[in-house]
Amino acid sequence: MAPGGASASLACVTTRLPLAPHAPPSRRRLPLAAEAREVDKSARPVYAVWEITLRCDLACRHCGSRAGRARPDELSTAEALDLVDQMAELGVMEVTLIGGEAYLRDDHAVIAQRIVSRGLTCTMTTGGRALDEARARALRDAGVTHVSVSVDGLESTHDKLRGVAGSHASALRALAALRAAGLPVTANTQISRPSLPELDALFEQLADAGIQQWQVQITTAMGRAGDTPELMLEPYMMIDALDALARLSVRSAERGIRIWPGNNIGYFGPFEELLRGKISSRRCSAGRGTLGIEANGDIKGCPSLPTRDYVGGNIRDARLVDIWERSPEVGFTRERDETELWGGCAGCYYASECLAGCSWTGHVLFGRRGNNPFCHHRALELLGKGLRERIVRVAEAPGEPFDHGIFEVVVEPWPEDELRAAKALEAGATRRVEAVYAARVAAASRVVAPTDAST
Ligand code: SF4
Ligand code: SF4
Repeated sequence: MAPGGASASLACVTTRLPLAPHAPPSRRRLPLAAEAREVDKSARPVYAVWEITLRCDLACRHCGSRAGRARPDELSTAEALDLVDQMAELGVMEVTLIGGEAYLRDDHAVIAQRIVSRGLTCTMTTGGRALDEARARALRDAGVTHVSVSVDGLESTHDKLRGVAGSHASALRALAALRAAGLPVTANTQISRPSLPELDALFEQLADAGIQQWQVQITTAMGRAGDTPELMLEPYMMIDALDALARLSVRSAERGIRIWPGNNIGYFGPFEELLRGKISSRRCSAGRGTLGIEANGDIKGCPSLPTRDYVGGNIRDARLVDIWERSPEVGFTRERDETELWGGCAGCYYASECLAGCSWTGHVLFGRRGNNPFCHHRALELLGKGLRERIVRVAEAPGEPFDHGIFEVVVEPWPEDELRAAKALEAGATRRVEAVYAARVAAASRVVAPTDAST
């Protein structure tokens, strides 16, 4: 079942380049609760994602932060280094530097060195346009342990999505440069309507480029992506997307590459354990295990969450520990239950376990979390009734970093031919799962075989 209209819509979006806005300055002196509760004191972020600059050398159609220009009030080097110290004191164990494009900040290696010297792991995610061998070696020497390069489709698709001709080639060159410097490399890919039909070929290309892991997520309706709804999957396309990831899991076992589905690829369908393993909770970890930082020192519970609704304070106004413990915007996941759910998530069999999954994905669609149509379980439940969901934009985003428009869900009958194709995918799920586990067993036996021979 191919998603309809992909190439036509991509051709359409190449007619105008996205403009990077001048980001507004941080809203300062946001109120904090007078005291931290026990639940706030026991929550600690082990993982932080830090946008160290909003400046970028790409112009991506799907950029949630509308990156391009630096923010007017980005942290100084001294402020950034102090923030590293505060993260270490709060218990953060790993920091991923992002942008915009993190390496465009002149002191990115200094920041990385400080992170490492405080005993934290430092990683980076990059578009890789100007990540040459010298930059790769500098990252390695600063102590960065791992770099993930964004590759969002085959060459033509990637270049159009990223708004710069040649950006696919430079991303592959970045992977090679990082490997030459001795750094392990990962690729990350947004699954969009243009890229969904290319996932198999893209996986092989990235495997040939030497990646160890492949992180995938769906394009979500934030920032410029929300301006271009035709780039995003429809909720019913989760059936195709999850089937593609299950299909590719056979190849990933054969090639020894781990596929990591992002948190916004939901949930609980027949491939859940196969793709994500036996983890105990699918709930959003924003403000519990995860911390997000914008380049001006604004603090959120997750880097992807919309600025307006989820910034809890600025590091220039309060200590990190106080924003973490006493901001309701940061700690919103610490005490909540399924009474927060609405729409298709209210009354779901998995409601209490899932709580509508990724807060970011739901909030940027509806301006309110608690309902998430990008869910495999939900798409399959509806398929059983011959129905499917589409999203329709009813209000545009204002045009600021990390903003969103408003969408509505339309429930409609499947067209007959697409219904047959979707049901065929559903019927083949057990076969897919068996094929993946067989491939994993075969791969494991290939690893074990030399040891057996030597004994
Ligand atoms: S329908 Fe909502 S609550 Fe149920 S599994 Fe999907 S995202 Fe979670
Ligand atoms: S909002 Fe989504 S991406 Fe962020 S922590 Fe929650 S589940 Fe993860």
